[in-house]
Amino acid sequence: AMTRLTVELGARSYPILIGEGLLDELGAHVAPLLKRPRTMIVTDTHVADAYLAKVGAALGAEGISFSSLVLPAGEATKSWEGLARLTEWLIGEGVERSDHVIALGGGVIGDLVGFACSIVKRGCAFIQVPTTLLAQVDSSVGGKTAINVPAGKNLIGAFHQPALVVIDPATLTTLPRRELGAGYAEVVKYGLIDDADFFAWCEANGAALLAGDTAARAYAIAHSVAAKARIVAADERETQDIRALLNLGHSFGHALEAETGYSARLLHGEAVAAGMVLAHRFSAAKGLCSAADAERVRAHLASVDLPHSLASAGINTGGAALAAHMAHDKKVRGGKLPLILTRGIGQSFITDEYGLDSVADFLDAQA
Ligand code: NAD
Ligand code: ZN
Repeated sequence: AMTRLTVELGARSYPILIGEGLLDELGAHVAPLLKRPRTMIVTDTHVADAYLAKVGAALGAEGISFSSLVLPAGEATKSWEGLARLTEWLIGEGVERSDHVIALGGGVIGDLVGFACSIVKRGCAFIQVPTTLLAQVDSSVGGKTAINVPAGKNLIGAFHQPALVVIDPATLTTLPRRELGAGYAEVVKYGLIDDADFFAWCEANGAALLAGDTAARAYAIAHSVAAKARIVAADERETQDIRALLNLGHSFGHALEAETGYSARLLHGEAVAAGMVLAHRFSAAKGLCSAADAERVRAHLASVDLPHSLASAGINTGGAALAAHMAHDKKVRGGKLPLILTRGIGQSFITDEYGLDSVADFLDAQA
């Protein structure tokens, strides 16, 4: 069974296909988009080992010829050097503006390929084939593309929507458990933003999803992607305080990631998990949300072995230092840091009412 969703953006609307085994049918879904039977696949070393031959066969079955570029796995590939290598490779391969480059991999490959395709020949089309849970529920949909630079993560980038997203949950069978958990934090996020029923579903089914339940995975991916597609359609460029809700847990999480130097000690999704707990606890401390709701969030994330406090995230830094990281967040506007806070599970909202001093005091009390 295949689920088909759409990101509604007028003339730039695009489909998201979700289904077990879709990688084997990739050629059939890609072929109708192509002006010539040729494409370029960009992936990383881990994903190439597991899936490049399968994808190549699926394209070949539809008479589509392709060349492929295998980049080193890891965040370091999302860099000026990675961008230079990729764009020059695409030019060398004779890429045309009407071609559709395939991004096969996690968020690193998706973000890099999307950005490269936004600038090569002043813009060519691309297709997202996400292979991590994080990329399947979050980064492959919505058109945010970027690279990291020495001054910070994702600071150079563009909005460039894909022409198609093809999600095969079967790829998650090879994903390391820790990466799966990090992606799951972003799944939980959709429940906490505005969907208390979905958070309750996560409480009941999260453990099974992480243990390999394919029906639970398919449901969670489709539900998350539908939420993301709705939010992106309502606020494509994050100008109306709607898309910003996707940053729930991210301002606090960003501080934790910065504190660990964006190292493998704390994956992005792990930082978001702890960040979501902190956002709920901060909301409770300010009398916005009940302590019971904040505890429910903490307990669920703890139950699936995700970080759920400063200590479990391996952070023992003072609140002032953490708040200073938050002050460098690229979302700071006019000197104020907008925070996503909540009135309860599924009732998040954005506010810039609370200063960094009050955040620092709160974090000190959490240590
Ligand atoms: P990633 O792309 O680095 O993948 C994580 C690891 O899993 C890598 O080692 C990769 O090689 C490996 N891998 C990927 N698929 C696999 C599979 N099926 N089987 C085995 N191994 C596999 O990391 P990620 O978590 O997917 O993405 C993180 C990136 O996404 C960050 O750079 C972040 O900034 C970005 N991001 C972007 C958006 C957006 O809206 N554009 C949203 C969230 C995150
Ligand atoms: Zn995130």
